[in-house]
Amino acid sequence: MPDTIHLLPDHIANQIAAGEVIQRPASAVKELLENAVDAGATEIRLLVNDSGKALIQVIDNGKGMSPKDAQNAFARHATSKITTIEDLFQIRTMGFRGEALASIAAVAQVSLKTRRAEDELGTSVEIENSKVTETSSVACALGTTISMKNLFFNVPARRNFLKSNSAEFKHIIEEFTRVALAFPEVHFSLTSNGQDVYHWEGGSFKQRAIQVLGNSYQTKLVTVGEQTDYLTITGFVGKPETAKKTRSDQYFFVNRRYIKSAYLHHAVANAFDGLIAKENFPSYLLYIDVDPTQVDINVHPTKQEIKFEDDKIIYAFVQAAVKHALAQFSIAPSLDFSLDASIQQLDAIQKPFTAENANTTASQSLYEGFTKKNQAHFISKSENASKQDWKSFFTTIPNSENTVGQEGIDKDHYIVKPSSMGFYKDGSPLQISPEASLLQLHQTFIIAPSHSGCIIIHQQLAHERILYEKFQKASAHPHATQKSLFPVVLELSVSDAILLEEIIEDLALIGYEIEAFGSNSFIIQGIPADVNAGNEKNAIELLLEQFKHFSGEVKYSKREKLIRCMARQMAIKSGQSLTQKEMHVLIEGLSECDIPNITASGAPTFVEFKEDYLNGLFSK
Ligand code: ADP
Ligand code: MG
Repeated sequence: MPDTIHLLPDHIANQIAAGEVIQRPASAVKELLENAVDAGATEIRLLVNDSGKALIQVIDNGKGMSPKDAQNAFARHATSKITTIEDLFQIRTMGFRGEALASIAAVAQVSLKTRRAEDELGTSVEIENSKVTETSSVACALGTTISMKNLFFNVPARRNFLKSNSAEFKHIIEEFTRVALAFPEVHFSLTSNGQDVYHWEGGSFKQRAIQVLGNSYQTKLVTVGEQTDYLTITGFVGKPETAKKTRSDQYFFVNRRYIKSAYLHHAVANAFDGLIAKENFPSYLLYIDVDPTQVDINVHPTKQEIKFEDDKIIYAFVQAAVKHALAQFSIAPSLDFSLDASIQQLDAIQKPFTAENANTTASQSLYEGFTKKNQAHFISKSENASKQDWKSFFTTIPNSENTVGQEGIDKDHYIVKPSSMGFYKDGSPLQISPEASLLQLHQTFIIAPSHSGCIIIHQQLAHERILYEKFQKASAHPHATQKSLFPVVLELSVSDAILLEEIIEDLALIGYEIEAFGSNSFIIQGIPADVNAGNEKNAIELLLEQFKHFSGEVKYSKREKLIRCMARQMAIKSGQSLTQKEMHVLIEGLSECDIPNITASGAPTFVEFKEDYLNGLFSK
């Protein structure tokens, strides 16, 4: 038998490696723009034809390359940016892996023209299938022009995977925008099929933000700026009214590198808690600068994910900075910073919210609107009407129209909501004396005396709110799992298996430890610590079923859907008898919620009847 192992020729090895870095035209755009930025360009032009499938050209006025560098640049691991392994932890440039040009040269026809200031003539290099096919000296402008034609011409399978022109162009704009936002001092332009698309002159961060987001944002951005020895955060958040149902206009940059981070997104969303509807996303552009030794950017081939030395601090800091900004700009009162002790001493938290500040704040209409909304929240029919979709999903819940906003009851008399921001903690109708004797009605409602009347709690909806918040918090700080003594095997249909795959990580965050186990089978290794073992199989199947029903609701993130399903599924149901103790525990749990008065979908969890109102009922 002959030996069968052989070394792959370079151009094939490069093509394989290129798969990691260059997935689509937009990935090449990102790499080329970053190279131009690294070269110190002050003007960068991007030209694409056919959404980059036919041509991607980047023209910069940066420092250029020597004739020899121009040829070497395309070799794998050819970089001028690091030389020792220590450098890897001190990175101040966008690139450092020396892979981009090699990858591009493996999957497209590339030509390069470049000239340094000290050279009279520039260099021109042509490359195909990773091989330099031609070099010559040419007269050319200062800087570098790289053109790549016919992306994936030699990898038809990949070419076939490309999406429509409009979809690919969207990706290009995304990458272009991210780099442009990170480097506002650079003049960027984008031309597509000969048409000017963007022309962004260099300027301040704010100017660039407006160029990207549009003029209407001129008055809608709140400046964020906090500085400590450890890190700096600057940038902008959109005022609450700019929140959208879609996830766009959300940018994090760490040391000017755009990154994706669900974790930090959560921190911002948390800071907006109570200011925007749960299903909306705040817009933000936040720039975090830390010592490069505090982050590892080498954890992902396209460098869009990074690892922080201590991400809890970053989380708390981002949240505090955004809260503080919103407070300073009178959008939210600066109360209730619940933060790690480790960052309590940060400037952002220490800065007093002075009486003077508070006065000017209180006189502004935004503030009024905000507090009013949170003080006395009167339920109106219309507000509930829009929430019907989600409610129809609950089978055992009475039609809310029968419980609230009923004709004949003066709506102004039942105040439902204690403040979600902790203003009226003392006055919360949910503060029930532990001695009070409670009444369960129709195994659905709990009647309890409050200090100024009485409240009626819907046991299922209340429990749902409690669980919802618990799961939500759990998804930021993973939940305790109990290992199953006898792991259960779950066999699913193909489509259910795909669905489960999709949510498996999210399930892990709330305590379900599930592993793939051969084709369409899974093994349940652990369940949330507070769920009774025994019917986990059933629970997961039910969850998948609910999840499917709910998955038409595009406005909710996967995790949000999952959390809602879980809360709904695990809540005690109507029809279940509760002991005095259980009822007290339930009410106490509800009172500890951030937003105790409604479920995630907007149904009231309890109503209060004030003493005046009760008296009024009996007056002549
Ligand atoms: P990396 O950016 O990780 O170093 P690349 O493959 O992207 O690797 O680029 C290789 C090298 O080519 C860079 O380190 C740089 O020296 C040089 N180079 C690439 N693009 C440019 C450019 N636009 N201007 C000047 N030099 C460049
Ligand atoms: Mg690079």
